[in-house]
Amino acid sequence: MKTVFKTLGIIAMAAIIGFGMAACGDGGGGGNGESGDPAGGGGDTCSSCGKNDWGNWETQTAATCFNQAVQVRYCNDCANDQTRNAGTALEHTPSTWQIKTAVTETINGIEHQICTRAGCNHELDTRIAAYATGTTGLAFSFHNTWGGVYYVMAGTVNNSSVHIPAYHRPNASSEYQPVSFLGDINAGSADRHLGAFVDKNITSVTFAAEIEGFQILNHAFAGCTGLASITFPARVFLLADTFIECTNLTSVTFIDDASNDNQIAVNAFLGDLRTKYLAGGAGTYTTTAPVGNSSVWTKQ
Ligand SMILES: [Zn+2]
Ligand SMILES: [Zn+2]
Repeated sequence: MKTVFKTLGIIAMAAIIGFGMAACGDGGGGGNGESGDPAGGGGDTCSSCGKNDWGNWETQTAATCFNQAVQVRYCNDCANDQTRNAGTALEHTPSTWQIKTAVTETINGIEHQICTRAGCNHELDTRIAAYATGTTGLAFSFHNTWGGVYYVMAGTVNNSSVHIPAYHRPNASSEYQPVSFLGDINAGSADRHLGAFVDKNITSVTFAAEIEGFQILNHAFAGCTGLASITFPARVFLLADTFIECTNLTSVTFIDDASNDNQIAVNAFLGDLRTKYLAGGAGTYTTTAPVGNSSVWTKQ
């Protein structure tokens, strides 16, 4: 019987198309019988019995955030069914902004909006609510350089890893400003003690991914013999003696090529790393400890 119905259906459809009448359905629905949305009025015949004696359209599946409602109706003579999509999908109903990920020293705090409609928990939007704070104890000072930025010093940080944030604000109700300099604003070649982490036992240094354009001032890591590796942020500038006395710094990574020869001071590093980087560009460079003036660096 089913095969017969199907054949008849195809013939009926062909006839409708042949007469040029609108018989275009939205498809879908998944019913066992026909699907489609025949135009009202004549020609809307049941493919099984050939009559036009339908019950009312009823909701089979309610609309969701993503899908239209599916309606079904039954032939009063042979119980054949027909389905169609109806109306429009519901729009998501956004929640208020709520915390997705709490801010930490190294991770940005993220907020998101999710759909509050029953049966839907779709994430609609996310935003940074608070930037990673950087290692607790760092000392920030605001200066008008580059239109207003923070300089950062070790403060009370010692005997630990260090994370340098991209932005800082004194409290939650003040504006973020970029953190762009490592060291005292008066740091210079003759002022070893004004380097950011002079003689601190720093085990590792990381920089926030959002940092772009950063200067590491004179003597920043002078005497940091605990430092074994470092990865710089984009467009980093290094001033003189930045890594002097860093006898265990054997792995250095630049994430971008040097923009010009002035980007790295002549004696920023021990050994030939400056020369190798200016020639070799982005990448990781290594050497062996103890690192000194004659150390040879190799790009990996
Ligand atoms: Zn019928
Ligand atoms: Zn939704």
